[in-house]
Amino acid sequence: MEPVKTSNPFYSTTDTSKVDVPNTEWNKILPREVYDIAREKGTERAFSGKYNTHKEVGTYYCAVCGNPLFNSNGKFESSCGWPSFFEPIKKGSIIYAPDNSHDMKRTEVMCGRCKSHLGHVFEDGPPPTGLRYCINSVILDFEKAKDAAKNYTDSQLSK
Ligand SMILES: [Zn+2]
Repeated sequence: MEPVKTSNPFYSTTDTSKVDVPNTEWNKILPREVYDIAREKGTERAFSGKYNTHKEVGTYYCAVCGNPLFNSNGKFESSCGWPSFFEPIKKGSIIYAPDNSHDMKRTEVMCGRCKSHLGHVFEDGPPPTGLRYCINSVILDFEKAKDAAKNYTDSQLSK
């Protein structure tokens, strides 16, 4: 039986302070499927995620800590089987690390607030960035925009 989960005291969509919590603690808080991907760097099955073909206008948050990561204006239709974005909501919302596991040279992307594993970034995305952030649905929380017109990324606003 799944252990009863305690509520997540680290989740906030407005607090930007860094969250540094050991995995033993996250294991008590996060649902199994979120923990496996976020903290053990797992990958959900392609085409299985709830946000893979999701098209609503709004914001995607880290399901572990609530950090805003992407918005729907930065999402694009990709055939890879996971939600794909060409840019994060802000530069610092995501951090990067080289990942040479599975005999591949890839760049891992993690949440800039809690360092949870999100997915990988590849250089075969569409303009304007040419990047494809390939992200597991299970570590995303989506909130529909109240005012769709305000939902632009930093670079879209500076144009
Ligand atoms: Zn996070």
